[in-house]
Amino acid sequence: TTAARQSLRIGLIPADGIGKEVIPAAKAVITAVGSDIPKPDFVDLVAGWECFTRTGVALPEETVEALQNECDCALFGSVSSPSRKVVGYSSPIVALRKKLDLYANIRPVISVAPEAGQKPAVDLVVVRENTECLYVKEETLIVGENGKEARASRLITERASRRIGQMAFELAKSRPRKHLTIIHKSNVLSVTDGLFRETVRAVPSLPGVDGKYSDVTIAEQLVDSAVYRYASILPLRAESSLIIELLRLFREPEIFDVMVAPNLYGDIISDAAAALVGSLGLIPSVNAGDNFVMGEPVHGSAPDIEGKGIANPIASIRSAALMLRRLDYTKAADRIDKAVDQVIREGRFLTPDLKGKSTTSEVLEAVLSKI
Ligand code: ATP
Ligand code: MG
Repeated sequence: TTAARQSLRIGLIPADGIGKEVIPAAKAVITAVGSDIPKPDFVDLVAGWECFTRTGVALPEETVEALQNECDCALFGSVSSPSRKVVGYSSPIVALRKKLDLYANIRPVISVAPEAGQKPAVDLVVVRENTECLYVKEETLIVGENGKEARASRLITERASRRIGQMAFELAKSRPRKHLTIIHKSNVLSVTDGLFRETVRAVPSLPGVDGKYSDVTIAEQLVDSAVYRYASILPLRAESSLIIELLRLFREPEIFDVMVAPNLYGDIISDAAAALVGSLGLIPSVNAGDNFVMGEPVHGSAPDIEGKGIANPIASIRSAALMLRRLDYTKAADRIDKAVDQVIREGRFLTPDLKGKSTTSEVLEAVLSKI
């Protein structure tokens, strides 16, 4: 348990591209909140495309073993993907999620209100199932009467739906609004999505739950209408009075608090969320299981800005906060998030993706000075 830790062992896997520029920023921020967590003990680890070109392996066994045996949590940067399929190479992040059984991808979408203490216009979290659905990648191609026939199978199990449901209820319970929306399409896919929906809905009445989630309200949205309502929240980045007016005109963003979805819908919904906040450089996530948590900025390796020192470190810094929050270091996480909010609100030190002129290290320094 977290209380017993002497030190907090954090695996760092910057991997490729701007991952190597933003993960060090997250490390510096964790060090800065050191008084609110056990002594951080960083373990440098390698994986990714560059690692593959150097060693022939994208995810070295030593990295996996170090994460399993020597780390309490980890931060992952980003991997470059080769422009065409390369024999023997597959994404190390997908493999890591499997090996560490990180069955949930949790992505908060939060706007920064213009004044401290005000409620942000949008404050929701997408909880995406990370292990099954169409992503089991069971595809076949045959030539039939109609020419080529491609099929994919979609797996939904009670076990995976139940554990993602439990995680979503737990998260909803911990938030002020305590509201959970189940995303599905069971009007069309009544067997697969029907099972997901029923299983998540049944979580509060599982043996041993004992009314624990009785204060969580439950709603449902078909995935298409969820995206529609969600997309109407546009745009979030600067909450000017005009935008607040727009928000009123559109459907209420308040209908969402925690959203739980099978893998494919979760993928789409969380990328729609990324589009809402304006820059990929702002959006954090964690990959979580029962025994491990790995923070990961949502953006990729950003080859177009790699090496220029202008990558926005906020997504990684907030991923570190999210990781600490899941480990119950709430005070440390709050300090980081508040510092980032202040820097965004003041607008003096922002990277070019947010129309600023600052470098990665200037934004980091600004955040550190607020902490
Ligand atoms: P990959 O294949 O690794 O995902 P990509 O070309 O899709 O690479 P992304 O990293 O997904 O690139 O980024 C998409 C766009 O968003 C790029 O123009 C990139 O510069 C920008 N971007 C992403 N992350 C950041 C960041 N942290 N700071 C600034 N701009 C960013
Ligand atoms: Mg990308």
